Amino acid sequence: MVKKVDHIGIAVKSLEDHVSFYTETLGLHLEGIEEVPSQRVKVAFIHVGETKLELLEPTSDDSPIAKFIEKRGEGIHHIALGVESIEARIADMNEKGIKMIDNAPRPGAHGTKVAFMHPKSTGGVLYEFCEK
Ligand code: ZN
Repeated sequence: MVKKVDHIGIAVKSLEDHVSFYTETLGLHLEGIEEVPSQRVKVAFIHVGETKLELLEPTSDDSPIAKFIEKRGEGIHHIALGVESIEARIADMNEKGIKMIDNAPRPGAHGTKVAFMHPKSTGGVLYEFCEK
């Protein structure tokens, strides 16, 4: 089922402007920076114990993250729940009447499979299922 909060996604205009807050000010470890073309973002992963913070910088104006920042400004974008068998979780949500943005998993960072739930079905939170 749902195992843990895998990571929290945070939308930023520029990784360069924000990474030092996490690494230098808070003293956390930057695992690396990776581009995810399917979502038109550049992602920095920062470890906080077992959970990660995922800073998301848009790489194009039509990136969902660019649109999010335009509407709501920088800040928390989504919460990712670590799961096994993501296809089964999606089917389970559909059965329970939860609207999914992704009815099939798509490629996330680090070779993961991800699928987003619709915030209208979850009380306003954008949740991501994430399978390693
Ligand atoms: Zn994520």
